[in-house]
Amino acid sequence: MKTPERLVLLGHPVAHSLSPTIQNAALAAAKIPLHYSALDVAPRDLNAVVGELRKETGAGNVTIPHKQTVFALCGRVTEVAKTARGVNTFWFEEGALVGTNTDVGGFDHATRNLMSEHGRPLPQRVTLLGAGGSAAAVATAVSGWGGTALTVWSRTEQSASNLAQRFDCARAERDLTVAVRDAQLVVNATPIGLRDDLLPIAIELLAPGAAVIDLVYRAGATPWVRAARATGLVAIDGLPMLIEQGALAFECWFGFAPDRRVMWEAAAG
Ligand code: NDP
Repeated sequence: MKTPERLVLLGHPVAHSLSPTIQNAALAAAKIPLHYSALDVAPRDLNAVVGELRKETGAGNVTIPHKQTVFALCGRVTEVAKTARGVNTFWFEEGALVGTNTDVGGFDHATRNLMSEHGRPLPQRVTLLGAGGSAAAVATAVSGWGGTALTVWSRTEQSASNLAQRFDCARAERDLTVAVRDAQLVVNATPIGLRDDLLPIAIELLAPGAAVIDLVYRAGATPWVRAARATGLVAIDGLPMLIEQGALAFECWFGFAPDRRVMWEAAAG
């Protein structure tokens, strides 16, 4: 693969993303003279933008709402992207668009770290709130653990059923209270808490000792993470996943690992 000459984040909207911050810190630390920029691309413009990036040996990340569209545009996708049916990282090889999904590895890494820090094994029962692109990445990671049962709840029941059907370890549950009551880990894969102070589910409904992972991240931790920690639960927001998916993407583009410490420092501001 040729070293990228342009690095971008494709999304709509993109202004809230910390990816430029962490990737530019990683590029500077590695002394790579490139600037990673966020491009706000409306769905109707995506094809044209991907065409331009092909000419410029571009590479980058993909975020909401383009992960499935870019997956469909790829000439080649990795196995993990196939299972997640979405691409968050892309580059070009001999003109062909190649995609992978580092959200899967990012979530896997964040969860393993959280559990081992607290002396816990990987959970046997996980509940996923939401059934969109990031939920598919979480389900892909959980399906790789072997032996973990996944319950999927979504406000749109059909989306939960559709996602659960794709994974042998998963089933959909309509009743949110039932979905979470036995879970050892509950994951929020909805945008609740991103721009409001709402919680995806009240903490009292979780099992005693459950761990909480909120894929949402924002300054000062999310309302759900703050509420969970206040009652003594183990909880992290989406930052550890974001840093790891970014580091794995960097490795895809340049063939070596970035300095994760500088990425963390940049994210902390
Ligand atoms: P999608 O739009 O693909 O999916 C969103 C899901 O949340 C859908 O199931 C949707 O249900 C549900 N949802 C949306 N709004 C509400 C609501 N008000 N109440 C209940 N359910 C709701 O988004 P993604 O999966 O890509 O991203 C979800 C969130 O995850 C993002 O907001 C982002 O903050 C976070 N994220 C974090 C990452 C990280 O590295 N930490 C990586 C990727 C995402 P419905 O189908 O009914 O609309």
